[in-house]
Parts: sequence; C-alpha cells; structure tokens
Amino acid sequence: MTTSVIVHYQEITLKGRNRIWFINMLVRNIRTVLADLDVEHVCALAGRIEVRLASETHWDEVRERLQRIPGIGHFAKAVMVPATVEAMADAAIAGMRGRTPVPFRVKVHRADKRFVLDSPAIERQVGQRVIDALDWPVDLKHPERVVRIDVLMTDAFVFVDRAAGTGGLPVGSGGKAVCLLSGGIDSPVAAWRLIRRGVRVQLVHFHSYPILNDTSQQKARELAAILTRYQLKTRLYLVPFGAFQRQVVVSVPPELRVIIYRRMMVRLAERIALRVKADALITGEVVGQVASQTLENLRAIDDAATLPILRPLVGTDKDVIAQDAMRIGTYPTSIIPDQDCCALFTPRHPATRAALDTVRRAEAVLDLELLMAEALSGIVIEETRFPGTVTGNDKMRRLLTRGGTTP
Ligand code: ATP
Ligand code: MG
Repeated sequence: MTTSVIVHYQEITLKGRNRIWFINMLVRNIRTVLADLDVEHVCALAGRIEVRLASETHWDEVRERLQRIPGIGHFAKAVMVPATVEAMADAAIAGMRGRTPVPFRVKVHRADKRFVLDSPAIERQVGQRVIDALDWPVDLKHPERVVRIDVLMTDAFVFVDRAAGTGGLPVGSGGKAVCLLSGGIDSPVAAWRLIRRGVRVQLVHFHSYPILNDTSQQKARELAAILTRYQLKTRLYLVPFGAFQRQVVVSVPPELRVIIYRRMMVRLAERIALRVKADALITGEVVGQVASQTLENLRAIDDAATLPILRPLVGTDKDVIAQDAMRIGTYPTSIIPDQDCCALFTPRHPATRAALDTVRRAEAVLDLELLMAEALSGIVIEETRFPGTVTGNDKMRRLLTRGGTTP
C-alpha cells in the first residue's frame, strides 16, 4: 500500500480549454512548495493531482503547506489499492479502526465508468463490510465521517480525512502586479487577495531611512517572507523616499503633502511595474478608513498612474481585514510600531478633499523626473523563495537605475 495525497482543485474545473495549463501550473507549485520534503512524485491524473509521499514522516508539514497555496479546493491523505471491493473495504477499515465510531457513509466517485459495479453498489458493499468489521452506525443524509473512494481504471484511492484548501487559482495563472506595501495591516492583505486569484505579486516598500529608523524595512522584509509562503517566490523593492519628502517640505503646503507622497509612490511603483511587465498596481486603500482615503483623494492618486490601481479592500471593514491578516499570519508583524514615512513632515489632518488642479499645481514646482531617478538609484531588491532563501538581484537593480531592457 502506498500513501498518497489526493488533491482536488475547484475553480480550475471551470476553465474550459485552458484547464490543462492551470493544472500544470498547480502541479508545478505543489512540487515547489514540497521540494524539501520526502515527495516521490506529483502528477495530474483524471481530474485530480496525486502527491506520492516516500514516507508519512512529514505529513503534518505537507498538510500545512498544501493548505496555504492557492488553487486547491480540498485534499486528503489516501491509500491506493487495487480496485476491488475487498481491497477498498480493507483500506477503509484500516483508516477507521481505532477512531471513535460516529455515523458514517461511503461515497464513491468513478473516474472510469467501465468499472463492473456502479457507484451505489460499491458504496453498499464497502459500507456493509465496514459495518461487519467495526459496527459503526450508518447515516446517508448527515454523516459525521465520510469514507471517500475514487475508483480509477485498475486502482482506487480510499480516504477518510479531508482538509479544505484555500481555494482560488494557482499563482502564475493570473499575470503579474506590483503592490505598494507599507508596514501596516491592510496592504499585505490586499496583496494576498490577489495572490489567491493567481496573480504573482511583487512588493514595493518606500522608506525614509536614514531620517527615520529602519523598522519599516524590517517589517516589509518579514511581510514579504510571510507572503512568499503563499506565492512561493516574491520580489521586494525597498525604495528610499526621504530625499523626495525633503523637497516636498520646502515647496508643498502641509495639507497636500500626503497626497503628493502617494502620487509619487504610485509613479515609482509604475516605473517598476512597467519594467517587469506587470499589468496593475495594488494598494491597501479602503474608502473612508483614514482622512487621506476619500474618493476625491483616490481620484487624485489614480491621476498619477496609467496602469490600473487595484484596491481589493476598498469596501471592506477594518475588523474583517484584521481577521484576514490574522489568518494569513501577517497581523503580528503589521502591528509592530514603526515610523511611517507618510507621517514625515505631514500635519495630523491632511486634506480630505484634494482638488486635482490644486494638487497638480502644487506638484508642478517639483522636478519629478530627477526625483524619481534619485529614488530609483538608491533601490535595494531582494528575492525570497519558499522553501529557501533570500537573495539580492543586482541585474534587476542595474536595469531599474540605468534603464535598459526587461529581463
Ligand atoms: P496599510 O495598513 O496598508 O498601511 P493604511 O490604512 O495605513 O494602510 P495609508 O497609510 O493611507 O493606509 O496607506 C494607504 C496605502 O498606500 C497602503 O495600503 C499602501 O498600499 C500604500 N502605502 C502607504 N505607505 C506606503 C509605504 N511606505 N510603502 C509602500 N506603500 C505604501
Ligand atoms: Mg499605513
């Protein structure tokens, strides 16, 4: 008997002719996320993916990792046996023995309809053998435990425990976007929402080091590492923003500074996005959450970008966002106190209704091109992989600071 994990995808089944492409991407992501564990193979077969484990030693770790990566509907540790009623029943009994008896039922899915018995007949016969051996009560309508059997051509998978995956779509299937990542609660959740939809998300963090300390950069690194557990590969850009802010202070009225910082962030993020062929920007903005996030201000921010700015949290309440942050594991890092670069040289009450003309006029005195080049020349780029390491990316850094072709 071999131990396998059977992974069922969910939304992918709706993808029509692109299905194979999505499935291959999920197979590749599963191989990557389990790369350092004892895995014999990962392969797609008849509507599901089989992960064969060389041993059960790492099962808990395997389960945790599979629960994180997008594209999986549910999965279960399964035993592969010859497709005979006897072998299927033996495997079911072995999986159930020793557990507290609860109302159960057997549920059969035949991938190969040529099997001699139809599904209800297999369910009845296997169920009867389980009752004979273990004396568990049957409840077809509301079972507390379901023994599932997938009958393939000559083999069958029998599984007793099933875990929910995170749903969504495999990362890599939804293109690429660049998320403006502060050290706060919202932006990591915004990034994760798109990661779950299959988008590969690169992160840009703006900091005012050395005017402020480097806590926000450390937080951005930690957040990048956490998000990498979901998307397996993350690029983080750390962009110095203090020099620009010093310029703003001497020429822009205090109440407009936050909005002008935000416009500059969006411009710089867009530079990076275009260079890496990303199709959108992402922010953690929520209408009405803070003074700077009114519709007028969001419009003034959009005005600085040509790429679409995705705001997946725009209509979400703070407590729901916080719950998501706890679920994905970013919350403890996000609440570490830091010195937020947006608070530098800004009043407590920024403009809540920044009229576009006023903002544009205030900005006109700044040499934006020069200031952008200056910020990009101080950029630090780090790549994080799961499982694995953090490395720098000098080639990308040179391209962004000097211009050149996209790698
Ligand atoms: P968050 O919890 O994500 O920090 P917030 O509620 O604090 O959001 P703001 O500080 O107004 O809201 O920031 C709004 C959005 O602007 C953030 O969600 C993020 O996308 C972007 N942003 C703000 N500061 C930075 C920064 N230092 N680096 C990168 N992006 C930033
Ligand atoms: Mg913030």
